[in-house]
Amino acid sequence: MSDRVLEELFIKRSQQKKKTSPLNYKERWFVLTQEKVAYYDYDPDKMKRKGLRGSVDLEKIKCVETVQPEPNAPQERMFAFQIVYDEGPLYVFAKSEDVRAQWINKLKEMVRFNSDLVHKYHPCSWLDGVWLCCQQEVKQAMGCRVLDSKNGLTSKQRRPSRKPLPPTPTEETPSRLLPPEPPEPRGPSVGMTVVAEYNFQPKTSLDLELKKDEEYTILEMSDPNWWRARDKYGMEGYIPSNHVVKAENGLERFDWYCKNINRSQAEKLLKNKNKDGGFLVRYSSKAGKYTVSLFTKSGGETAGGCRHYNICTTPQGQFYLAEKHNFDTIPELIIYHQHNAAGMVSRLKYIVSDTARPPSTAGLGYGMWEIDPRSLTFIKDLGTGQFGVVKYGKWQGKHDVAIKMIKEGSMSEDDFIEEAKIMMHLRHENLVELYGVCTKQRPIYIVTEFLSNGCLLTYLREGMDQHPTAIQLLEMCKDVSEGMAYLESNQFLHRDLAARNCLMDGNGTVKVTDFGMSRYVLDDEYTSSVGSKFPVRWSPPEVLLYCKYSSKSDIWAYGVLMWEVYTLGKLPYERLNNMDIVEQVSRGLRLYRPQLANEKVYGIMAWCWGEKADERPTFEELASKVQDLLFEMQ
Ligand code: ADP
Ligand code: MG
Repeated sequence: MSDRVLEELFIKRSQQKKKTSPLNYKERWFVLTQEKVAYYDYDPDKMKRKGLRGSVDLEKIKCVETVQPEPNAPQERMFAFQIVYDEGPLYVFAKSEDVRAQWINKLKEMVRFNSDLVHKYHPCSWLDGVWLCCQQEVKQAMGCRVLDSKNGLTSKQRRPSRKPLPPTPTEETPSRLLPPEPPEPRGPSVGMTVVAEYNFQPKTSLDLELKKDEEYTILEMSDPNWWRARDKYGMEGYIPSNHVVKAENGLERFDWYCKNINRSQAEKLLKNKNKDGGFLVRYSSKAGKYTVSLFTKSGGETAGGCRHYNICTTPQGQFYLAEKHNFDTIPELIIYHQHNAAGMVSRLKYIVSDTARPPSTAGLGYGMWEIDPRSLTFIKDLGTGQFGVVKYGKWQGKHDVAIKMIKEGSMSEDDFIEEAKIMMHLRHENLVELYGVCTKQRPIYIVTEFLSNGCLLTYLREGMDQHPTAIQLLEMCKDVSEGMAYLESNQFLHRDLAARNCLMDGNGTVKVTDFGMSRYVLDDEYTSSVGSKFPVRWSPPEVLLYCKYSSKSDIWAYGVLMWEVYTLGKLPYERLNNMDIVEQVSRGLRLYRPQLANEKVYGIMAWCWGEKADERPTFEELASKVQDLLFEMQ
């Protein structure tokens, strides 16, 4: 026939239009004409096509795309493509990549003006009642992957191939192969495009709404926390800078991509989820490489552990993780390994994401350090502290907040209000965030992030269901050390670091609170070193003797806090009164090693208690020491 465009012998998968019809793969002679794709029986002996078995009208086609090979697919079914039309997908297997590419390109070109073309497709096949790519169990479920291009004229063909390759290097063995193209090392700058990782609802008329996965242009970055940006409709306003990432490699839109986390944060996330096969992909800009972190509960000696696999690149620029399976893109590689362990301890079964919960913003909206008290709802008392009652409540009826109602006469308010503007810019995941203040009425309120697990000291004393593991305790210490290292890098002294001034959120993350607040306390019993409320038990000799505060006095207090953690909240030097402590600590007395602390952990505490301030470490050194120890213990 004259209007034949292409002809080819393919393997066709049965379409199983009825649930009971069998799944099989048969050779069929395919003919593409201007009107349809038809397929025929094929007689291999005579090499001739026989009776017509079926056809698809071109005008009914919604999508033509590659399909990832099915799990354990034989060699002859490696180059699959799908023709999706109103009766579902037709799966066809070509002999080679070239033939597949030729057919896909031709078909895409011929159907490009169809009215029903879809924007999304399923990159894997429908098998045994489930889409292998997204685990949806409805055959009609909308595709889970956005198409690169609708009509395919610019679409790059996918190429999973099986070339022999050296074994996959692990993080420990340096790779001889080039790392994947690293994103540009430059930081964000004005004019650049960013992608929203989270939704953000405007809190003031100056804010701009963010929609997850949409792109924004940065217009101004003078405030590190709030950037001015423009959305695709031309609307402008302020956005929280930690809700967006630079649009660089297209991975941002995948939930498994956790760009900004390191190895230990990845392990923490995975362990918290505690799902066998839980995984995420992270990127180290230092090393210029992508790594898949995978959690498994099985596996003999490695039971309950995290494994880290580098994503390697072939000299041709393809990506692979394990055992000779190469892909043009990282998402394709991930999809493949969601179905095939192929050398790893488990396949990638469960996406663990760090984007489920948006990070807190610096203040509730741009320039919002003064909060309208009418926008606060008080729900319940959380406790009473030095400055009075602390309440849990909502801001604008929806955001959880803690509200400190400052008892009149307990604080030097003007000094604090001045300082609050600075404190609002201190932002770290291990610091309790100051959202703002209500200063136009009395009592004044301090509004902060709310942490549902409350005070760390109470948690240590009575909050744990089971006996904590050494790792859990060290994790708490690590959280504090990181928050403190951040304060240290901002030359900000805490002056009252102790377990009572740490809080825990619903995920078990510990955050430091009340930093610098002791300077505004109006109570001699608290501020004078001989007062009954002075934190004598957390103070180094130079503070007790000469009131000499420095970052090294915070370090001393950190050692005592570690001791509180490892004794599950005992009172330091419990048998001594304040006067005895001053005397004995100045003469060299130190806290004993708690039973739960091994020599190495105790070594860190003792390091904080060097007699001379300059013998003590910095928080940066401490944080990395704690981190190292955590690795050793896992
Ligand atoms: P102060 O610093 O004024 O002495 P605290 O910070 O000790 O007051 O607060 C008193 C109690 O209120 C704490 O022990 C804690 O249980 C609770 N609390 C304080 N801030 C928060 C918060 N942000 N989230 C949850 N609970 C809090
Ligand atoms: Mg406090």
